[in-house]
Amino acid sequence: MEIKVHLTDHPKQKTPDAELGFGKVFTDHMFTMDWDKQHGWHDAQIIPFGNISLSPACNVFHYSQETFEGLKAYRTADGHIQLFRPEENFKRLNNSNARLAMPTLDVDFCVKALKQLVEIDKDWVPHSEGHSLYIRPFCIATEPNLGAHNTTMVKFIIILSPVGAYYASGLNPVNIYVEPRYVRAVRGGTGFAKTGGNYAASMLAQEEAGAQGFSQVLWLDGVEQKYIEEVGAMNVFFVLGDEVVTPELRGSILPGITRKSVIELLKHWGYKVSERRITVDELMEAYKEGKFTEMFGSGTAAVISPVGLLRYKDFDMKLTDGKIGELSQKLYDELTAIQWGKKPDPFGWVVPVC
Ligand SMILES: *Cc1c(COP(=O)(O)O)cnc(C)c1O
Repeated sequence: MEIKVHLTDHPKQKTPDAELGFGKVFTDHMFTMDWDKQHGWHDAQIIPFGNISLSPACNVFHYSQETFEGLKAYRTADGHIQLFRPEENFKRLNNSNARLAMPTLDVDFCVKALKQLVEIDKDWVPHSEGHSLYIRPFCIATEPNLGAHNTTMVKFIIILSPVGAYYASGLNPVNIYVEPRYVRAVRGGTGFAKTGGNYAASMLAQEEAGAQGFSQVLWLDGVEQKYIEEVGAMNVFFVLGDEVVTPELRGSILPGITRKSVIELLKHWGYKVSERRITVDELMEAYKEGKFTEMFGSGTAAVISPVGLLRYKDFDMKLTDGKIGELSQKLYDELTAIQWGKKPDPFGWVVPVC
């Protein structure tokens, strides 16, 4: 399919890197493409970034039929721009779309469209250390119809947002509590899909955690509320003796691409990595025995997020003395070095744009 390009006549003033933050500033262009039952995907175009006009009756506003992705473009020391495992994101978008009863996309075409969009807006990729261009592809159901039936119209959009370093003052351990009341997802539900509804359902728990000085909640399984699932927008890893454990994918947790990369790296380095079920009781026992020594989250935004304190009800597990765990630091250094092109990429993860 041909991509029509209509460049803006009014390029925006760029925000200084130091003021970027996360997800508030957008580049000059966006990619859009439409789908309807009769024509399939059509009208692929790169156009000036701007508001879109939709009927207030569109399905997405009423029944949350939407999916999204998140990845980044990085500027290397020699001025090239590169992506990290973008095909994985579009494959996952397809899995999400299938679960939300929306049409799938051609992965190669999406990567090609994304490269073209990023190249057009390449001057927006920040130059400062730790800064990057966050990429948000998403699909919304756009049929103007209040009937709660599957949509016959979908819009796919990619927007780009230059973002600051996640940790302004370097890696920082976060405090997390195990959510004892609310659940995020159940097996057979939409936990494995990247869809706004999962986030809508978790805002309240997030807010309550924030009010108590915790940055995130750790979700337990939705059935027995004893198995560990994941944190907010991150997957989790635990160092237990000589074993690194991460909850296995059973349909209720998001299959993170950072998670996958961490597992592959750890295996490459010769660590014993287990994807298995793990209960909060097992964690507390291991902590008491001195075997639970480190915990970290993994996700595109922060890459690796070390956890300094994990609380379950009134039991506090203090980890790594409020410092950054050894393995967290090692993984963070290696992954970011590959993403920013400071080290060779033996895995073929990096995709050059220009
Ligand atoms: C996006 C996301 C993650 C992390 O996935 P990455 O591909 O590593 O960025 C983890 N959990 C949830 C709920 C997410 O939405």
